[in-house]
Amino acid sequence: MYQTTEGPLAFQKRSISAEIIEPDGTPAAKPVEIRIDPVSGRSCRITFARAKEAAGEAAFPPPPPGAADTASCPFCRPQLFEHTPKLVPDLSPTPRLEYGESVLFPNLFPYGRYSAVSVFDHRHFVEIGTASPDSYADCFINCANYLKRVQETDHQAVYLAITQNHLPSAGGSLIHPHLQAHADRIPANFPRFLEQRAAAYYQKNGRRLFADYLAHEQADKTRLIGRTGDWHWLAAFAPEGFYEIWALLPGTVSLLELSENQWRDLAAGIIRAQKFYRSLNHNGYNLGLLAVEREDSRLELRLRMLVRSNFDQWTRNDHTGFEVMLGDMATFIPPEQTAALARKFWP
Ligand SMILES: [Zn+2]
Repeated sequence: MYQTTEGPLAFQKRSISAEIIEPDGTPAAKPVEIRIDPVSGRSCRITFARAKEAAGEAAFPPPPPGAADTASCPFCRPQLFEHTPKLVPDLSPTPRLEYGESVLFPNLFPYGRYSAVSVFDHRHFVEIGTASPDSYADCFINCANYLKRVQETDHQAVYLAITQNHLPSAGGSLIHPHLQAHADRIPANFPRFLEQRAAAYYQKNGRRLFADYLAHEQADKTRLIGRTGDWHWLAAFAPEGFYEIWALLPGTVSLLELSENQWRDLAAGIIRAQKFYRSLNHNGYNLGLLAVEREDSRLELRLRMLVRSNFDQWTRNDHTGFEVMLGDMATFIPPEQTAALARKFWP
């Protein structure tokens, strides 16, 4: 049986064990925990025994090849202003958008109708956890300003997202740090599901989904990490990635209405999460913030962050047949431990 909590959001978990005989002949029961994300309904597994598997985390990785090669990087200046694409005049009177040190331009390899890249600043390689929070805040605000312009010209492009692939291990094509801004009329899988889930939850319970999720977690306390301004940081109950952390802004659905201070507080938390990931000898991660920019949207803002396997020749990838073919993330440590380890970075 699953252990479950009362209320409209069920935090379900179940412990099972695999009985084996160890190579030395000793009988052993290897524990596995199965959890179900109250938001997505998707299950994940905590496979405790696999924490001992080598996954390339014995030491913090050296800088990648090309860490000093600024001359051939299209995101370094001055070549940024010659080698990156320009915004169409309908979207912007200037070919690129600038905010502080951040420069935004269209993605040369777009993912959707509106796809942009926003470079943080002139620093070509930035080790995880060492960026200035201001560089992140300015880059996010630059993305939000771009998404506002998109919304003003195309009211149907309501599915907005800001994402980051930090380093090639996380899917980044260039090591020069940058964010991606996305807007489309057609939702990707996660925003499509989350929009419907948040609307159905509101219709049934008259309350907001992530506000209730946070209220549960604040009562439980075991996965809370800390706050930066209005943002609440916590370890995901049923992670779909290693050391997955969420930042929730309960009650807020619009990414375009965030204040400058809210962006600065978000950036401060992201740098703290990076420092935490660095302490685990990880240098690459993914980040994502989604919004459905419609007046009747019930989907509140949530930023997700998770680490990826360090990039190294013949290092094991973090997605095995279990994730890709069976569809359950198999992580190694419980989220309560993630929160306990992360808390010291939120003094
Ligand atoms: Zn560069």
